[in-house]
Amino acid sequence: MPESPTEAGPPSVAVLIEALAADAGDRTALMRSDGSSLSRAELARRTRLLAQRLRALAIAPTDRVAVLAPNGIDMALAVLGTMRVAACAPLNPQYGQAELAFYLDDLAARALVVTGDSPALAREIAAQRGLPVIEAGEALCATGDAPLPPTPVSDDIALVLHTSGTTSRPKQVPLSHANLAASMAHIVAALQLGADDCALNAMPLFHIHGLVAGLLAPLAAGGRTVCAPALRLPDFFDWLDACGATWYSAVPTMHQAVLTAADGRRPRRPLRFVRSSSAALAPATLAALEAHFGCPVIEAYGMTEAAHQMASNPLPPAVRKPGSVGLPAGPEIAVIDAAGAPLATGTRGEIAIRGANVMRAYHAHPEANRSAFTAGWFRTGDEGYVDADGYLHITGRLKEMINRGGEKITPREIDEALLAHPDVAQAVAFAVPHPTLGEDVAAAVVPRPGSTIGPEALRAFLFDRLADFKVPSEVLLLAEIPKGPTGKVQRIGLADRLQALRRHDFVAPRDVVEDILVQCWQEVLGGDIGVHDNFFALGGDSLKATRVVARIVSVLPVDLPTALLFRHPTVATLADAVRQTLDPSVIAEIERILDELAPLPAAGDERDARPV
Ligand code: AMP
Repeated sequence: MPESPTEAGPPSVAVLIEALAADAGDRTALMRSDGSSLSRAELARRTRLLAQRLRALAIAPTDRVAVLAPNGIDMALAVLGTMRVAACAPLNPQYGQAELAFYLDDLAARALVVTGDSPALAREIAAQRGLPVIEAGEALCATGDAPLPPTPVSDDIALVLHTSGTTSRPKQVPLSHANLAASMAHIVAALQLGADDCALNAMPLFHIHGLVAGLLAPLAAGGRTVCAPALRLPDFFDWLDACGATWYSAVPTMHQAVLTAADGRRPRRPLRFVRSSSAALAPATLAALEAHFGCPVIEAYGMTEAAHQMASNPLPPAVRKPGSVGLPAGPEIAVIDAAGAPLATGTRGEIAIRGANVMRAYHAHPEANRSAFTAGWFRTGDEGYVDADGYLHITGRLKEMINRGGEKITPREIDEALLAHPDVAQAVAFAVPHPTLGEDVAAAVVPRPGSTIGPEALRAFLFDRLADFKVPSEVLLLAEIPKGPTGKVQRIGLADRLQALRRHDFVAPRDVVEDILVQCWQEVLGGDIGVHDNFFALGGDSLKATRVVARIVSVLPVDLPTALLFRHPTVATLADAVRQTLDPSVIAEIERILDELAPLPAAGDERDARPV
């Protein structure tokens, strides 16, 4: 294998592996997180052996073979060995029974490849379907050398991955050896990877990011890659040291977790760079990572259908722009309108790509292919623009855009504003259904350890930074934000997953001000209202806010702009704001009058509306 591969990359994974072994067989190819390693020659021998086993089952290059195992060196060998002979479909080892059955059937898999630590469930489900189950990994070495099986050619499918299917049934993305080769070459070029580089790969090996940026590209550069288990903190820092890693690539939630757990720890050998891809990296996180690791952070833009990389920020001395995914780094990129016409620099539109790394079509899905391809361009479904310097900026995922009563809101903007707060470790804004607005905005936030920040302080922080209509009506504080299998936050569906947290225990008004506010709210919204219920979650909107405020000022001697209700959307917080504008003597006077009219029942029991 040449030290600097050509733009075309190797014609197939088998050719890449054999070329590495022939070039310098005793050099390290794969490593474990404890620092132990496997040579290029061993990589070739063990993957060849698995390929041979599969060939013995009459599996052909056009067949699909599922692979299911936890991350690690055996999983890497299973994937690479399978790709030497068939279309490899790596599956998430966390899948339950129904998911496993769905994916094996949907793929029409001919066999299942497992490793010693694969879950028993996968073997059982494969056996129920009469599928041969093949053991891969280091256990295979005992059998001796194997002859070279016939290998797929560059147009054959190497990898079949499913889209995440958050809004529809998952689609199959078939990627050819040529697609993978192009993507490897693009990543090698963008990161200037070489034989001295060592990647620490904690990204799952059933996701395109871990497979291409974490496993194949480092090998294509003649370097080493560490097949780490799923991210485990704080062990991650030991892994970096044990393996002498020069870089790692991860999704932003992993970077945030690394920063939170770092506790002042840095790798003994400084990293050459850190790469982030697969979701938006907030500029605040980028800055914190650069400060922590003392190296450039390279944000790149990738997607399964493009065999991962599409754009990347360049390494120094070229300029990297926080908030941008960088320059085209592989396929051609255009920003197009709904009809497919290219848009001018600076104009927002749908990001479209074409090039050697882009899949030819979704498998057996003519409808999806019709809407995804326009005049040879693949529509990514992402919205963005190219700036005057040619850098691509992603403004959101078209399907994730929140429509709050006609106001279109990009949730990423809210995430970034929240992450700019020093007490926020993770943040994700999402749409929640609303009876009159259609959708409203909520946000889930993981505070930094030891922080005592509350939702209202965070909302106040946002009001200073964002237009009022973009400020989430609700901010939920969580220990952890639910994530998809690859560690990416899945915005779509978050409202359902967090629904239980959005309900608050009923707390009756605790003083006269809360009592009056509850009654004003009830007149407009109806139903029982507790002091911690959120006005907007109860169906409130700006029209109803105006009516509530008009009612409040007709009862209390306060000057209450409607905006105050937006800023304080619970009775408890609005009451605090009202109390600050009222002279205590006025409150005492109101209490006295009300007491004379009807004595207040015991606090905590009161649910009946009393006339104001
Ligand atoms: P996947 O197919 O799982 O790799 O997801 C691809 C999607 O992740 C893209 O279509 C984008 O919506 C998103 N994505 C990937 N990289 C970035 C990035 N750097 N910034 C923002 N979104 C990204």
